[in-house]
Amino acid sequence: IPDIRRHMERLTAEGVDVVRVIYPDLIGTDRARDVLVDHLPSACEHGLAFCRAVYHTSPQGDVVPVAGGLDAGLPDVTVRPDLSTLAPLPWEPGVATCLGEVTDPATGAPAPESPRDLLRTVLTRCAEQGLRPVVGPELEYFLLEPAPGTPTGWRRAPETTGAVYTAGLRADPDNHLLRTLRHLRDLGIGVITGNHEFDGGQYEINLTHSDALDAADRSFRFKAAVKELARKEGRLATFMAKPFGDAGGSGFHLHLSCDDSDEHGDEKGVRNAFDDPAGAYGLSATARHAVAGVVAHAPALAALANPTVNSYKRFGPDTLAPWLIDWGLDNRSAMVRIPPERGSGARLELRLGDAGANPYLLVAGTIAAALLGIQAGEEPPAPLEGYGYDTSRSAVLPTDLSAALDALEADTALTDLLGKGFVSSFLTYKRNEVERFQRHVTDWEFTEYAYHL
Ligand code: GLU
Ligand code: MG
Ligand code: MG
Repeated sequence: IPDIRRHMERLTAEGVDVVRVIYPDLIGTDRARDVLVDHLPSACEHGLAFCRAVYHTSPQGDVVPVAGGLDAGLPDVTVRPDLSTLAPLPWEPGVATCLGEVTDPATGAPAPESPRDLLRTVLTRCAEQGLRPVVGPELEYFLLEPAPGTPTGWRRAPETTGAVYTAGLRADPDNHLLRTLRHLRDLGIGVITGNHEFDGGQYEINLTHSDALDAADRSFRFKAAVKELARKEGRLATFMAKPFGDAGGSGFHLHLSCDDSDEHGDEKGVRNAFDDPAGAYGLSATARHAVAGVVAHAPALAALANPTVNSYKRFGPDTLAPWLIDWGLDNRSAMVRIPPERGSGARLELRLGDAGANPYLLVAGTIAAALLGIQAGEEPPAPLEGYGYDTSRSAVLPTDLSAALDALEADTALTDLLGKGFVSSFLTYKRNEVERFQRHVTDWEFTEYAYHL
């Protein structure tokens, strides 16, 4: 309590009277409550009660059953503010935000659907091997404007050029990107660069690399902040994988290396365990085994990295999104790219994930797959040479969400590492999504069949 009082005094001195407590649900949506600062002590002591069932994000907000959700009578989870993550919201004077920890009120243990705790579990397994994963996220998104009278009500910001790697007024006519970058910096997200991406109204922002949990926290807060800032401008920022049939998708590229540490998790200096000038490709055996693990577990990993029905429409030949399960040296047409830097910069870049992924699940799944590869000690297949997308050379990723969910369920090594409680909640939630989609009659079907049949 004295600690909470100190935070309250500081917040009050800074003119903050509301703390927005946010936590990621199973699909990575930011669930939140605004807490008046006067009530912070009670929120910290008793926690905030939320319904444990996950809601899907359609405007109807129907309840989707997760294990222990609908079937158990919609019980609570308890969310406790983590005041060490407090940060004032740069665009909303008087409001600060912090992350919440999600627990089961009956046991006080982490709720099985808590993505942050899932990542912590995987990181504990890494620490047992003396490894401390370092993650650098890159996220793409589309900025949309209201378009009344159109089927979705939104269109891509039409006045941008759609030229990749551009910045300035031609790419960002009213400085949306500039404003966003500065607000994200002030919020402590650790952004480095921003630019226009391949398609009209599409942007990419790169984050600094850091410890995996911190990088996932920042990616989660990043997505929530970008959506808020777009809303403030009367726009919609969407991280969905493939919002338009005639434009590319939005990726969530993840750079991964590992620092060596002793069995207590302390640093042994700054050695990057992925670097070895004498190793094959200038990579250490640990790095090569990590690549082998990611390649071997890719079909199951897709369920976490590409978690929506829409995700699988981003994959395909000639997209710069992956389609095949392969890896290559500085090769953007491969699923895993090894960027050219070595030394402290030796790392892999997983290009599989789409921006719609829950950052915690993408990071946890990627690290879990890499760790399984490191434990198995296997070498990866031969790297992709030249332009990829050749099915005679590599296997194809799952072609839909249902296949990826089946692959996750069948991958016992990965599901053991992630935990049965989490996997079962995730599969229940996502299979319900697949079933709802399968029952939905699309415009395509009407146009394809109504006139000819
Ligand atoms: N938009 C592509 C994707 O969906 C990536 C383009 C790039 O290389 O930045 O992953
Ligand atoms: Mg990009
Ligand atoms: Mg990239």
